[in-house]
Amino acid sequence: MTMKLSTDPSAATLLPIAKKEGISTVWDRHRAMQPQCGFGQLGVCCRICWKGPCRIDPFGDGPQRGICGADADTIVARNVIRMIAAGAAGHSEHGRHVALALQGVAEGRLPAYQIRDEVKLRAVAAKLDICTEGQDIPAIAAAVAKATLEDFQNQDHDAPCNWIEATLTKKRLERLQALHVLPHNIDAVITQIMGRTLVGCDADPVNLILGGIKGALADFDGMCLAIELSDALFGTPSPVITAANLGVIKPDAVNIAVHGHNPLLSEVVCEVAGQMDEEARKAGAKDGINIVGICCTGNEVMVRHGIPLAANYLSQELALVTGAVDAMVVDVQCIMPSVSEIGACFHTAVITTMAENKIPGATHVDFKEETALENARRIVATAIEAYKRRDPRRVNIPDFKQTAIVGFGVESVVGALATLNAEDPLQPLIENIANGNIRGIALFAGCNSTQVAQDSSFVTMAKKLAANNVLMLATGCGAGSFAKHGLMTQEATLEYAGDSLKAVMTAIGTSAGLNGPLPLVLHMGSCVDNSRAVQVAVAVADKLGVDLDQLPLVASAPEAMSEKAVAIGTWSVALGIPTHLGTMPQVTGSAKVTELLTQTAKDLLGGYFLVELDPNLAADKLLEVIEERRKGLGI
Ligand code: SF4
Ligand code: SF4
Repeated sequence: MTMKLSTDPSAATLLPIAKKEGISTVWDRHRAMQPQCGFGQLGVCCRICWKGPCRIDPFGDGPQRGICGADADTIVARNVIRMIAAGAAGHSEHGRHVALALQGVAEGRLPAYQIRDEVKLRAVAAKLDICTEGQDIPAIAAAVAKATLEDFQNQDHDAPCNWIEATLTKKRLERLQALHVLPHNIDAVITQIMGRTLVGCDADPVNLILGGIKGALADFDGMCLAIELSDALFGTPSPVITAANLGVIKPDAVNIAVHGHNPLLSEVVCEVAGQMDEEARKAGAKDGINIVGICCTGNEVMVRHGIPLAANYLSQELALVTGAVDAMVVDVQCIMPSVSEIGACFHTAVITTMAENKIPGATHVDFKEETALENARRIVATAIEAYKRRDPRRVNIPDFKQTAIVGFGVESVVGALATLNAEDPLQPLIENIANGNIRGIALFAGCNSTQVAQDSSFVTMAKKLAANNVLMLATGCGAGSFAKHGLMTQEATLEYAGDSLKAVMTAIGTSAGLNGPLPLVLHMGSCVDNSRAVQVAVAVADKLGVDLDQLPLVASAPEAMSEKAVAIGTWSVALGIPTHLGTMPQVTGSAKVTELLTQTAKDLLGGYFLVELDPNLAADKLLEVIEERRKGLGI
């Protein structure tokens, strides 16, 4: 039964233990929730005002309009764009947080932080068209922070956000401008979505969806600025060998799991843990302090520092069931509220850190950039204290972990290619796409969902695409799935890649000093790092003189669940990328909205949603799309 819930071998080990201990997990709650509400699944229920809730009868026998007169198309469109607004708010708030930290560093107010990658900071300044001549690093940082914060403040509707303007192809910007969907101000666009979806406002599904696309592009803007400024502050990822799955938790160490999304906290916790290692040893932990990652905070510290990843989204509770996590430190997003209750079943300190993200039963350490070192010391000391209470008889660490080579940002991908052609690094990639050695590129993103056996769709699709010579990039919990299942290794390339892809990966990897091929799937980072993949695509498109919707490039979120995934998927479509969803989006109660997103979008934007729940068929469909794009390019 366990294998139907998850294909992660750690889950097979720990779910029976959870059951024996009387601990309810996400899969138990999923089962208890059946049957789930069909109206909600179709997106046709509305709770926007207190005359409701209203729901439209999908079979046509009952009400076809809500009490105010809204029909299914209006209700579905309003619901989905509110999801986009929530996703965009999450990512852009993360970005704002990082931008304000950069500003604080520039002003010398934040002793815990520094500019670790000056080259990246200068590159970002150049990208934003900021003159750096004669300027020192704090002055450049201040100018970059100012230009970035303008994306939250600009009131000129005709002036697009700085980051999106600096990132996309000219043709794409013109196309989006013509549709009036280029965001001018992230906050304003999110506010507009909430305003236009109030009772008695925008009722036109097409207009609503266009507003949602603008919101999704605001999400893209927020992600771009979040990752680039994080690189300047914390370092740009480069390839590093590490490990993934719950076997990275050590029995003889103080284990601290960092979980959530925002690197501002986890970076300082990692640093302070190094300084407090001796204290952990004195407390009896002969292996000192062991930091492990969960979800996208895990991905952030993994690609920058090689910190091992313990779990992706669905396994977060199982990390606690090992009985060996002494502290779970959480920041924002994707943290199941159940973790505090499960932590309390053991000795684990679950520590929330953000004023806007608290969980009943957890310990709260109010994290502020100004007091980051002090906050991190308190967190690590709490973990050491908890370790002293650990019951060794309840420790069950599954003996599963896989090697993972991670840390493939734009710079490292271009750097690896430059070892083949220093003058023109993109040329080897373009040549191999043109001659068909690489048929196309697939970006895997998104979450885990209880609607799918954990990790199964990611792994099935990747193996099929690899055999058909598709180069694969991954982010977020998708990247976590591949890392846990051994697909971020050189061995996986040798085993699963088609002959021509294998030859290319081997040539690049060998030339870049990896003594063998690149890993089968390239780990680009967390959910916000999806924008890194766009940068690679834009560079290729610019070089070929085409737009993104002409490239043999596809995206897939086979196990999507979050509102953030709705925002990401929508901007991916808006950028011209055919985007697969492997879980059913809550829009099918409106034929009009479904048609807009899966068909009309293709004419308007070049990108469109492709929904296919069977991962084998989904891979086939993406291969067809790739071949169609190749034909369009005449290759
Ligand atoms: S906004 Fe209209 S459809 Fe929605 S709950 Fe109120 S009356 Fe019902
Ligand atoms: S990929 Fe999805 S589940 Fe995973 S951390 Fe990101 S939003 Fe959360």
